[in-house]
Amino acid sequence: MGSAFNLGKLFGVQVRLHYTWFIIFILVTVSLVYPDWSRLLSWVMGIATSLLFFASVLAHELSHSLVGRVNGVHINSITLFIFGGVAQMTREVTRASAELKMAAAGPACSLVIGGLFGLLWFLTRGTLEPLADMALLLAQVNVLLALFNLIPGFPLDGGRVFRAILWQSTGNYGHSTRIATRVGQGVGYLFILGGILIIFILPQAWFNGLWLAFIGWFLENAASASYRQAKWREVLHGFTAADLMTTDYPVAPDDITVGQLVQRYVFPGGRRFFVVANEGRLQGMLTLHNIKTVPQQRWNVTQVGEIMTPLDKLKVAYPSQDALSILEQMGESDINQVPVVSEGIVIGLIARDNLIRFLRTRSELGI
Ligand SMILES: [Zn+2]
Repeated sequence: MGSAFNLGKLFGVQVRLHYTWFIIFILVTVSLVYPDWSRLLSWVMGIATSLLFFASVLAHELSHSLVGRVNGVHINSITLFIFGGVAQMTREVTRASAELKMAAAGPACSLVIGGLFGLLWFLTRGTLEPLADMALLLAQVNVLLALFNLIPGFPLDGGRVFRAILWQSTGNYGHSTRIATRVGQGVGYLFILGGILIIFILPQAWFNGLWLAFIGWFLENAASASYRQAKWREVLHGFTAADLMTTDYPVAPDDITVGQLVQRYVFPGGRRFFVVANEGRLQGMLTLHNIKTVPQQRWNVTQVGEIMTPLDKLKVAYPSQDALSILEQMGESDINQVPVVSEGIVIGLIARDNLIRFLRTRSELGI
């Protein structure tokens, strides 16, 4: 999803700001310049509007998280985009009713905020013009945010509501997700097509067309990613770590120097990571990244054990652990390899590429 900045925690949820927000801050701030306002007033109102717009989107996202939490869904972090946000969930929702409430909470919150700004506009129009202008803009933006998110294409809120309803009526989570993500892709393509049509038919509105196409492209991407994820879930269902692990992985001892490791293991095999073990007992993991932290002149005096990621900081899997939970673990901590350990002994490794190969083979065999 590109780069985002950490803003800190709010109600236990990590809040991240996508870099596109800096463009929005500037656009919103300069869009509120009126010729009959003083320059200072324009700037103050522009910045205040940007901040309130940001607070509106944040409130929308937080309402998802808090309603989710009440319904037993833990949200790790939320990343704020221009037209809403993306919540990072630890687990997918397990009950249709919880999903329905959680998805509907965001647009409902935006509608309420929009209504409040509409009321503020109503009370201040004609008397406090700058405030009324700001209130009107924020009312419109919040209603637009609610309506946009209610489009029934997954992963938008409306798509989640749609999936929850399908899921509730059919009882089939995977099937419902696939339908909702396909609709999401369809909506994305329609937006792209609409954007291109605007550019050709109304050249003076090219910017709006481009904008619409961009949102469509973003939607299509998000829907495809959700579709793939849903498919993975279905295929991996019922498999354990032992079914999926590979026994072909590079092992290095912990009592050699970095120089020896590079000479004996890294150069000949071209491997980029190693399981560090002592007589089969897992000690840690080592990647090229770890090696790069040591200046080359210290390679011969530094032991592998000193620079590896030690066991207590590693995610490990157990042979009987279900494959889905491992995949989730890898996603959460953004890691690519998980050693499979039985009574302290490494017996295999689960790597992201293995999982992908496994899925591809199964789909080629049509199972
Ligand atoms: Zn939302």
